[in-house]
Formats: sequence, structure tokens, C-alpha cells
Amino acid sequence: MRLYNTLTKRFEELKLGKTVKMYVCGITAYDYSHIGHARTFVFFDVLRRYLEYKGHNVIYVQNFTDVDDKIVRRAVEEGKTQGEISRIFISEFLRDMSKLNVRRPNYMPKVTDHIRDIINYVERLIELGYAYEVEDEHGCDVYFHVPSFEGYGKLSGMSLDELNRHRIEPNPKKRDVKDFALWKSAKDEDFKANAVFDSPWGYGRPGWHIECSVLSSKYLGVPFEIHGGGRDLIFPHHENERAQSFAIFGVEPVKYWIHCDFVTIGGEKMSKSLGNIVRIRDFPDGEVLRYFLLTAFYRSPLDYSESSIERARRSYNYLRNTLLNLDMEISALRTFGIDRDGVGFDALRHLRDFELAMDSMNTPNALSIFHSLARDVNRNLYVMSLSELEECFRIFTTFSSILGLFEGYERIPTLPKDILELVKEREVARMEKDFERADRIREKLKERGIILIDTPKGTRWMTKHF
Ligand SMILES: [Zn+2]
Repeated sequence: MRLYNTLTKRFEELKLGKTVKMYVCGITAYDYSHIGHARTFVFFDVLRRYLEYKGHNVIYVQNFTDVDDKIVRRAVEEGKTQGEISRIFISEFLRDMSKLNVRRPNYMPKVTDHIRDIINYVERLIELGYAYEVEDEHGCDVYFHVPSFEGYGKLSGMSLDELNRHRIEPNPKKRDVKDFALWKSAKDEDFKANAVFDSPWGYGRPGWHIECSVLSSKYLGVPFEIHGGGRDLIFPHHENERAQSFAIFGVEPVKYWIHCDFVTIGGEKMSKSLGNIVRIRDFPDGEVLRYFLLTAFYRSPLDYSESSIERARRSYNYLRNTLLNLDMEISALRTFGIDRDGVGFDALRHLRDFELAMDSMNTPNALSIFHSLARDVNRNLYVMSLSELEECFRIFTTFSSILGLFEGYERIPTLPKDILELVKEREVARMEKDFERADRIREKLKERGIILIDTPKGTRWMTKHF
């Protein structure tokens, strides 16, 4: 596979062993997730599925930031604790993800379950001379001293000048304007929200960046292969994470840093602070949304609009109907016990093209190859042999399982004899123009979960649940 590595600033051929360890930054659980978040998690879900398809054993970790300024703020506003707020939005997030067919990562650690690990890590950074303590009202803050780490700025590609300008929280106690918090001593709101943890520096809570260094190395070891997230995380979050992990382990902690671009709306980034978000939970059809999120290359922005969603819905429906047509035809040939000569259909050609597109995670190209398979299927539906149809079905479902579409699909069975008799009886009734009887039989079959469809090639059927 060939993906863009943010660290080296170029497309690289991935050198992967059998096991691929992947870490993707999860949500901060203080509000509902929007489709900008959905894009990142769908993208890495497809990457995981494709790696598995290629025979890799993927170990996937995604954290939950369940203690943080925003969570504390909301908890205080609502008179709740940090734990209550984060529990609500973690469970909403999991519901959103299953609606989008995003498979659960192998581990989804929460920060508050790993406070001890974080403290150990911060202590170690102090011992090694990368971090220092600063006294505060209720205890100490601990800062990472950026100039102590050579190579800071390599991931984001920012110059020292840009980095110096970027820091917005001037704190006279910091040794350098770029230094960032590893541990924050507790403030009054933290006590109110019950978001305080005992530490060698008094009551406080971890900074944001340290959690990902701790959780990734704890669950995956160092170095690991893939670290992902949205493009907005490159700086400062991932830059800081790299610095912390490198400082502790003395090696480049991640081989491939992969980032997804934004979802935009009218060309502007979709974000809560701009107030232009569409929440996942408000979107009626999860699979259509998933399809839409795959229509742009991951390195390009994806613009959300009514018309782009409508286009995605139409394309999605075309594939869905093709799947049904294909399966109905197979079930009909099997049930009637007939076959055809076939047309020498080469479905494998589509599979090869699809793999080529997926090797660079070019999902829009993969979707267009999916469509060209679908068009060929519809064109040849009534002339392909049973084995050709089956081969198409196999490749069709290979594509859909890699992309995570049509997950609820269950195959249309070959009809048992007694049902076939009813289908034939109804055809006779129709020929005799006894429509009342034909309708009665149709209803009877419906009760048994068989929905009849009249096509130019005769009666076909599908099962209720799709
Ligand atoms: Zn992170």
C-alpha cells in the first residue's frame, strides 16, 4: 500500500509485517459527534478492513478523552460530574459508530482508567530532564520543555518562528512559550466536576497530549506502525505526542502518521466552534452517510451539501438495487433448477482494479470501480451463467465488506418446493387473469417472508428484511 506519511511529507510504500498496530485519537466526550468526526473514523475503519483483507492482523486502539477542560466546563454548567458527562457522550458515540457500521477497535481505553500510568510517564519525563514542575495554588503544574527535545516541529513541518507565534497561553511560569502541560493542578471547577486525581504534584488532572503517548505505548508498544487522526490534530496534539514518546523511548515512536482531511460546508470546516455542524445522530441513514464520506480522497476536503448527499444516496441505491437484482437472479436460477451458457464475464478484472485503488486508499476510485461492476452486472443479468452470477456476487460482497456497506444483507434463499409451487400457481392465476387469486397467493407468501417482484423475465422474489 502507498499512503501519505505526514512525518516524511511524501507518499510512501508501507512496509508492514503480519501484525499491524494502529492508534487513532478518539473523541473528547463532551458533546455529540458530527460528521467531520465520522469521516475520520470511517476512513480508519476502511483502512483496518482493507489491511485485514490483505491478510494482516490489525490491532486497533482508539482512546476516549474523558477528562478535559471542555468536559469539566459542561459538567459545571449542568451540575454534573465529569464522569456523568463523559459516560453520556461515550455511549452516544458508540451508538453513532454502530449506525455507521464502524467496527469496534480492539481496545478503547479511557484516560481516567489510566491515571497511574500517566503519572509514571510524567515522572519519567521529569527524571530524564524533559519536563519540569511549576508551583500553583493547589499543587504543581508539570510542563514539557520543548527546547529540550531536538526535532520538535518535524511532524507539523512548522518553523521555530511559526511555533513560537502559535502558542496562545502565555504563562509567565513557563520556561519557554512553546512548553505544554503534562499535568495541570486542580482548579475550583475541577473539584466541582469531581475531575481531580491525586498525584505527586497534588490534586490535578493530566494534560491532553500525554494521554495518547501513554495509551498508545501501553497497548501497542513502541514503535508501532500507524497513527491516525483528523488533520487538525497534527499540531499541536500529534507534534507533542511524538515529542513525549520520542523523549521517553528514544526512538521514532510511529512509522506512518496518516491524517484525514475535513468535512466542509460551503467550503468552511465543519466544527462546533463555527456552529455549522451536522450531527451523526440527526442523519437518518447511516449507510448513505458512510457512502458519502467515502466519495472523496482522504487527503482532500469533502464538502457537505444537500445535493452532494442526494448524489451519494442515488449512487448508494444503485449499488443496493444491483445487489438485490443479482441475488434474486441467483435464487431464481437455483430454485427453478436452470442454468445458462454464460457470456465469458471477467469479474476478476474489477477486483484487480479495486485493489489497485484501495492500495492507495483511493475510495472514490474504488467506488467508481464498484459502479462499473454493477453496470456490467445489470447489463448481463439475464445472460450470465449461474457460476458467473455467483462470481459477481462474491466480488460484489468483497467490495461491500471492505467498504463496510450493506452489512445487514442476508442472502435470498433457494425456495423450498412448497413455496415454489405457490409461485407457479400464482403465475398460472395471472395468466388466467384471475388477479384476485394471484393477489391472495402474493399475500400468503408475504406472510412467510417472501416478497414477489414481477420482472420482464418472470417472477423473482426477495426476503422481507432488506
Ligand atoms: Zn490523541
